[in-house]
Amino acid sequence: FLCSSQDFDFFYFVQQWPASYCDTRQSCCYPTTGKPNEDFSIHGLWPNYNNGKWPQNCDTASSLDISQISDLKKRMEKDWVTLACPSGDGMKFWGHEWEKHGTCTSLDEHTYFESALDLKNKANLLQHLKQAGIQPGNFFTMESMKRAIKEGVGYEAYIECNVDTQGNHQIYQVYMCVDKSAKNFIECPILPRGRGCGSRVEFPSLSHHSG
Ligand code: 5GP
Ligand code: 5GP
Ligand code: 5GP
Repeated sequence: FLCSSQDFDFFYFVQQWPASYCDTRQSCCYPTTGKPNEDFSIHGLWPNYNNGKWPQNCDTASSLDISQISDLKKRMEKDWVTLACPSGDGMKFWGHEWEKHGTCTSLDEHTYFESALDLKNKANLLQHLKQAGIQPGNFFTMESMKRAIKEGVGYEAYIECNVDTQGNHQIYQVYMCVDKSAKNFIECPILPRGRGCGSRVEFPSLSHHSG
């Protein structure tokens, strides 16, 4: 990978569906700050090139300075939960995202994290899906989910699936494309290389998990 900061074309804004992260053979661990809400949660804001490649780890001397984002901590705990095991408070996940992806943007730490939080609110994915009758706990067609997002947000999203313990394909991550200002959604210049969904996908509910 090339590693020069600011040299990229657009962002992937990636949100994960917690139940689908947890509903796998690998399972998950809820954050030390509590069970996540039944909502999408941020995975990351990733600078990318139009040709599908991307820069990463652009400044190995930079590590997350939590004091710069203390005012965002409550929002991060709600909207950017860590589900990896063992349970954590999020710092490790956020630090990883900053070091791997954030350092390749021209944004300072505070702007980087605040931009992602604002994009989540702006996308409002769950609301748009529910308005189209797509409620967690059921199966839906891939086309109906993509259409609900396109109509709600105004831009096409890319849906990545994984497989639950019963072998069902389920909606795992939603990729949206964002311009270099980190503020506006755009149509994706290139779609991420995919993990198949099939036409019928599960939108699982977190309710039966103990974490
Ligand atoms: P995975 O192999 O699980 O799909 O991705 C592992 C990690 O590679 C992701 O968490 C992310 O950090 C990075 N990554 C995967 N695909 C892309 C991509 O298309 N663009 C960028 N910028 N990073 C990616
Ligand atoms: P990426 O795939 O962006 O490189 O980073 C994912 C990394 O963050 C992995 O090392 C993963 O273990 C860790 N991680 C911690 N919490 C989460 C989470 O809730 N979701 C995902 N996808 N990765 C997490
Ligand atoms: P990493 O090795 O970078 O931590 O993670 C590699 C892949 O495994 C990532 O795509 C991440 O989403 C997934 N992963 C990491 N930790 C966990 C976990 O505790 N549970 C689940 N379900 N996936 C994980």
